[in-house]
Amino acid sequence: MAEHAITPRVARRLEAVQRLLIDGQWQLAGDGRSEDIFNPSSGEIITTAATATEEDANRAVAAARASFNDHRWTGLTPAQRAKVLWRVADLIGAHAEEMAELEMLDAGKFYLGALNGEVPFAAECFRYYAGWCTKIEGTTKQLSTVPGQAFHIYTQREPIGVAALIIPWNGPLVQAAWKIAPALAAGCSVVIKPASQTPLSITRLGELMIEAGVPDGVINIISGGGSTIGRLLAEHPDVGKVSFTGSTEVGKQIIDAAKGNLKKVTLELGGKSPVIVFDDADLEGAIAGAAEAIFSSAGQVCVAGSRLYVQDSVYDEVISGVAEIAKNMKVGPATNSAMDMGPLISRQHLQDVYRMVEAGLAEGAKLAAGGKLITDGGGYFIEPTVLADTTHRMSVVSDEIFGPVLVAMPFSRQEQVVALANDSEFGLAASIWTRDISKAHLTADAVRAGLVWINCHGIPDMAVPFGGYRQSGWGRENGYESLLQYTELKSVIARL
Ligand code: NAP
Ligand code: MG
Repeated sequence: MAEHAITPRVARRLEAVQRLLIDGQWQLAGDGRSEDIFNPSSGEIITTAATATEEDANRAVAAARASFNDHRWTGLTPAQRAKVLWRVADLIGAHAEEMAELEMLDAGKFYLGALNGEVPFAAECFRYYAGWCTKIEGTTKQLSTVPGQAFHIYTQREPIGVAALIIPWNGPLVQAAWKIAPALAAGCSVVIKPASQTPLSITRLGELMIEAGVPDGVINIISGGGSTIGRLLAEHPDVGKVSFTGSTEVGKQIIDAAKGNLKKVTLELGGKSPVIVFDDADLEGAIAGAAEAIFSSAGQVCVAGSRLYVQDSVYDEVISGVAEIAKNMKVGPATNSAMDMGPLISRQHLQDVYRMVEAGLAEGAKLAAGGKLITDGGGYFIEPTVLADTTHRMSVVSDEIFGPVLVAMPFSRQEQVVALANDSEFGLAASIWTRDISKAHLTADAVRAGLVWINCHGIPDMAVPFGGYRQSGWGRENGYESLLQYTELKSVIARL
């Protein structure tokens, strides 16, 4: 059955106000305020979520600080911490259907997609970092500057302290896992702020983390406004690290806010990632891949392949192929897994995306598919859209749209497409489609982006560092690299 009905368990959950988690206690906001949470597939209010006051946020930071200072987490052995994180993963798995349903309801993820994709992926992320708990190591060194004396010199990795984690709405559960798991593996205590639109799956994750044995105060969850609570966390003198995923614009505000105590900053920001199709590519695969790269999650993916460059001789064939896929896609509610593309997150975002399409057309782009809002029903839908014959002078080519809108251009030579691909303020990802293995790797080398896929697009993994060049961010998520970003490095020099 394609249509997923809300289960009674989730319906009951949504009857209550979604609470904040501070020092192990689930609580309402200090001033009792809450915000409506909408289902983007229907435009209906599904529940309300407590919105933290500044005092709540300060209490959350204080709880995290106290838990860090008294070593209730770092005092466990690495193996004990690993077991707790592994248990979190098992509990996510045991509640996979409920988690998928929550992700469907407030983030507009397809139920089956979340059940088979996001939810197990989040669980695997906890397993991956569970494995690292027992493998955080230092090195030994030898002195060259002081001859004739004996020294013992070593380095050690130590947790930074309290980490503030600020995440967007486009993949709440996975984004939360990508930050919480390495932060906890490193020994930090955390305060996480979900995006205002999407607190549901993270709230449930918090319950599972407490159940798994994460000590009180080590995980705190506070929903609240970005410019108030998010900013407070980024500024807070007792927070040593802020890891932010979101827009480039807000990323820059985070840097400003963080400078008071020079807290460490990791930023995963926007993208405008090129998809490069050479004329010797498996065109069937490239056409399907290019469509998937932009239309999956309705383009609300930081690594979406939003700029398509196709070599002259196959340009028409590839554009009409992608346009054909776009025209045939079924667009509808995330409850219906027979649909091909779901909603945008909010009415505001829908309007922003639509305005960008109009701007592109006004600038002279040619509409090859889509372009219209879908207004029957209350959800936030737009047709999968392909804008052909665009140029680098158009705003649709330079700006991130974060919706199902592809801009396409022809190229003739490899050096030319590399220059076009690199002509962007972003540098998050790219994909290269060709059967020529040398061309593939030479192009991968020349493209200035943190992630390059060859004959595929958008495949992530916990083991693979993820992040961007230029204004796509600072630092990397996933892999050992992410774990290191929650640590300080100490060198100890002992004269024997
Ligand atoms: P956003 O507006 O930057 O918001 C992201 C988070 O920051 C939200 O929790 C938001 O809270 C909070 N926030 C807003 N203003 C803040 C401030 N002044 N100080 C501290 N926190 C603040 O981003 P978005 O529009 O929700 O998400 C889309 C963007 O995220 C896109 O640009 C996309 O490319 C990027 N993204 C990047 C990656 C990556 O890994 N590189 C992954 C996913 C998304 P509120 O919700 O309350 O506003
Ligand atoms: Mg926002």
